[in-house]
Amino acid sequence: MQTPSLAAHVVMFGRPGSGKSSLAERLGTEHGYTLIRTGELLREAVRRHDPLGAQVERQIKSGALVPDALIEQLLVQSLQAPGTERWIFDGFPRTMGQVPMLEKFERALNFRVDRYVDISISHAAAVTRMVGRRVCPVCGATYHIVNKPPKIAETCDTDGARLEQRPDDSPGVIEMRQRVYDDHGLPILDYYRTHAPDRFRSVNGEQTFGAVYADLLRVLGQPAR
Ligand code: AMP
Repeated sequence: MQTPSLAAHVVMFGRPGSGKSSLAERLGTEHGYTLIRTGELLREAVRRHDPLGAQVERQIKSGALVPDALIEQLLVQSLQAPGTERWIFDGFPRTMGQVPMLEKFERALNFRVDRYVDISISHAAAVTRMVGRRVCPVCGATYHIVNKPPKIAETCDTDGARLEQRPDDSPGVIEMRQRVYDDHGLPILDYYRTHAPDRFRSVNGEQTFGAVYADLLRVLGQPAR
């Protein structure tokens, strides 16, 4: 379904565990957004064992960020001009160095980001959520043992595969990823809050999934029903 009033080109921010990727998935299914997820593109490159995958595997497993130059290389390979298509960037930009990269893509591919949305949640709440996160190794769908359980425990609803914990959802790595977000993610939010206040929105991510999703639709421009 394409709801005409929704923002077309969206960048979603949120610390690991904020629910950002599940929300983006639902927007994709219900409102026809194509998801551009740098984390998923990187994991695919690792699975394919291509040269870029080999370079980034160690960083992803440790929870550290992949160098900006490799992210640019990855996106140049993956991005096409969006035209009127709906897009969500999930996981990019992740450092201040990637902010001008996005601006470069906007110019080169002739589109404009309509909304920068922050799914706001505390460091402590994010850690609790990440411990319960599960992912399908076959299709990449994400679940949560409390907030978004599969129909059958530990089993993917779509393809019946046994769900796994991502290696970077182990306790030490979770803490590391939260610190990375504090250091690199928060300055990006400050940047857009200051430089694009008319396009920046923050949503309270510490509500139920359904309530966060409803707020998200509102800030993307769909009037409340
Ligand atoms: P995600 O699935 O978005 O949580 O990303 C998983 C991992 O991929 C991160 O912990 C980083 O190691 C890496 N990653 C994803 N997106 C980026 C990015 N834009 N810049 C640098 N590293 C990234």
